[in-house]
Amino acid sequence: MASPPDIRHVTASNPGLLTLEGTNQYLLGKDEITVVDVALSAGGNIDRIIEQAESMGGKKIEKILLTHIHSDHCGGALALKKRTGAKLGISRRRRGYLGGEDFSYDEGDEIPYDGGSVTVVHTPGHESGHCCFYEPALKDLLTGDHILGRGTTVIPPPDGDMADYIRSLEKLLSLDIRRLLPGHGPVVTDPYGKIREYIDHRVMRERAVLRCLGEGEQTIPVITERIYTDTPAALHHVAQWSVEAHLLKLIADKKVRREGGRYFLLPERA
Ligand SMILES: [Zn+2]
Repeated sequence: MASPPDIRHVTASNPGLLTLEGTNQYLLGKDEITVVDVALSAGGNIDRIIEQAESMGGKKIEKILLTHIHSDHCGGALALKKRTGAKLGISRRRRGYLGGEDFSYDEGDEIPYDGGSVTVVHTPGHESGHCCFYEPALKDLLTGDHILGRGTTVIPPPDGDMADYIRSLEKLLSLDIRRLLPGHGPVVTDPYGKIREYIDHRVMRERAVLRCLGEGEQTIPVITERIYTDTPAALHHVAQWSVEAHLLKLIADKKVRREGGRYFLLPERA
């Protein structure tokens, strides 16, 4: 069997502190193209996706898949569907979120495209319905915001969940992956190194949060200030979400308790 055509991408013109150079929107297929994530309808983004599809020899865009429902990944989905008549898919857990979805998917589902198929890997953490898409013939994993090409992703509670996030990272280690194709930033050619780095990073942050609590710090802003010294101050309000996510995980682990807006270490049980 011929190997599937390479996956192409169009980076949307929505650069920023969280979106890096912009959202990477991926195109799969030959005559009929499947698009993964559509960041926005403005700024000629829809035209650029259609042009890319045509340059791949695509005669039509037949399907749109979404990694998750944050606006920088689904903001242009309905506009692309309207322009092309493509069928729009969404995580089963998010069905109805946009309105106008044609199908939904969940863990383990195989979604065919022209030239191959992708398997859905449910990866909650950044967003509870987040899905990665695995192309087994190419061994490429489209990671959305679960793993970025550079820096780390944000875990915003209450929908974002740190324990889920770490589990969703560990889950990827069992896949046979050649490349990670992230929602933001460059392609990752050392997938397992990156996944391990991401897991280690969260373990390191959790230890740092525990250390701060041990030293008597009690509030999210102060703990963030203390441990996010490697992060630009403009991102500290976002980093506070991740600190909160760590604290919620530690509460669930029975290592921390909360009183009002203050957090305290629980004595270790023998
Ligand atoms: Zn994003």
